[in-house]
Amino acid sequence: MPKEELITIERWRVDRAIDDLYGLAYAATSLIPEELRDAARAVVFAQTAQDLHKAEATLIEAALDYAERHGEVDVLDRVRAPCPLCKAVTQQTGGWVVPLGLNRHLTDKSSSAAWAILRGLYASAVKSIARDQGRPLGWI
Ligand SMILES: [Zn+2]
Repeated sequence: MPKEELITIERWRVDRAIDDLYGLAYAATSLIPEELRDAARAVVFAQTAQDLHKAEATLIEAALDYAERHGEVDVLDRVRAPCPLCKAVTQQTGGWVVPLGLNRHLTDKSSSAAWAILRGLYASAVKSIARDQGRPLGWI
């Protein structure tokens, strides 16, 4: 097969994978509470790196606010709530202390399911921005 044809096929595969990722990330936003969906979709559809970072911070802020209003007060008078993005709870108590514990969970890049969701939203936006600007992936 001619080299140019291989490059075209590879390009098509990459584009298709990006579109699939985009679709999955968008579908994931349907699983989170309705009032957080616009904030989540703003992450998916960010057009610049600056917009992306702003949208991500806004989503985390909105998730903390949502948890604050939907949580329960524990015996120490602290609000505890499951993660609004991934529904995870802490093992011992059933909910994250809002805002500190939940914020840590939302920004824990090593182990949290919420981070996996954010990462999915983030990755689709990064790839879209990279494609639009003709940059290599992973530049942000
Ligand atoms: Zn979570």
